[in-house]
Amino acid sequence: MKLCIPVIGEREMALIAEVFASGHLAQGPKVAEFERRVADHVGTRHAFATSSCTTALHLSLAAVGIGPGDEVLVADFTFPATGNVVVHQRAVPVLVDVDPVTFTMDVEDLRRKITPRSRAVIPVDTFGCPADMERITAVAAQFGLPVIEDAACALGATCGGRPCGTPGTLGCFSFHPRKVITTGEGGMIVTDDDELAERIKLLRNHGGVGETFWYRYEAAGFNYRLSDVLAAIGIAQMEKLDELLSRRRELAGRLGELLADLPTIRCPADPPWGRHIFQSYVVMLDESIDRDRLVADLREADIETTVGTYALHDQPYFQQAWGYAAGQLPHSHAAFRRSLTLPLYPQMADEDPAIVVAALRKAIALQQGE
Ligand SMILES: *Cc1c(COP(=O)(O)O)cnc(C)c1O
Repeated sequence: MKLCIPVIGEREMALIAEVFASGHLAQGPKVAEFERRVADHVGTRHAFATSSCTTALHLSLAAVGIGPGDEVLVADFTFPATGNVVVHQRAVPVLVDVDPVTFTMDVEDLRRKITPRSRAVIPVDTFGCPADMERITAVAAQFGLPVIEDAACALGATCGGRPCGTPGTLGCFSFHPRKVITTGEGGMIVTDDDELAERIKLLRNHGGVGETFWYRYEAAGFNYRLSDVLAAIGIAQMEKLDELLSRRRELAGRLGELLADLPTIRCPADPPWGRHIFQSYVVMLDESIDRDRLVADLREADIETTVGTYALHDQPYFQQAWGYAAGQLPHSHAAFRRSLTLPLYPQMADEDPAIVVAALRKAIALQQGE
């Protein structure tokens, strides 16, 4: 059983065929429609499609004016892109530990790490679990810092009743095949800020402002646009988003029930402040379990599993370039060591969660019998 399989079919093919027939393959009407659909779903005035969530995050930092020497507070337990984009703006990544239960930014550690050089905060909605955005935006507001929410995994999740991606200054989504909906590669920035929206539009397209039949270049921008070919896939995916999300929650509920009596595993759940969408179903293992051996044993049983995600401070780059030491952020370090992602995707059969859990019980029993 695979970890994840994208749900793509005839509808995606039909909309791609429309793009081919139009002859317009770069950013065009399909991108505009895809943006409108995402903006309508999360309820923002603006949405800008990008080539990935990594470029969405980079563009966001450039748009809010992050530059050399600025400190940007980043949740430590995340995909490395969240930290790398800070470096691309010649700014300083300041890594913030996570809450041990939800794996999202620890608000007290955030408060401790703010300095007079702090310029922005990047919380992460880890695995589709919303960060505590109400408290994070309150702390950020106290220090006048913009909040760029890495909502790569969280399209459709909510925080305090508000859609993920919207409580901060800017929100970024990913459409990589491992996420809730996909365009192959792709991303999007959402915001209600009209000025930042103009800046994002400018920087996404080389810094050019359209005149009559030519452009006036006002900034050293990027080409971070999405193609209409990929946006066509995104439109078809948005049509089934709600269905995909409810199936994910149903399967996650089933896994949770089946795992409830296993004392060596802690299951993911909704945090007190919002609604999880289980982009990945990541459990936390007891210290007594050898995670890497578990992954190998499950692979033997044809069940694909993997790590949760990465502790940035444990990676060679962040240690060599920024002086971090392994284990310095204890909760993120533990999560990197002892988290395990189980298979979860909408086309799983109703009986699949039981197959996964049976294999997991057997592999754990094997380790504990020694
Ligand atoms: C997937 C992911 C990214 C990167 O998204 P891409 O679209 O692949 O660039 C960034 N942050 C988090 C938390 C992610 O899960």
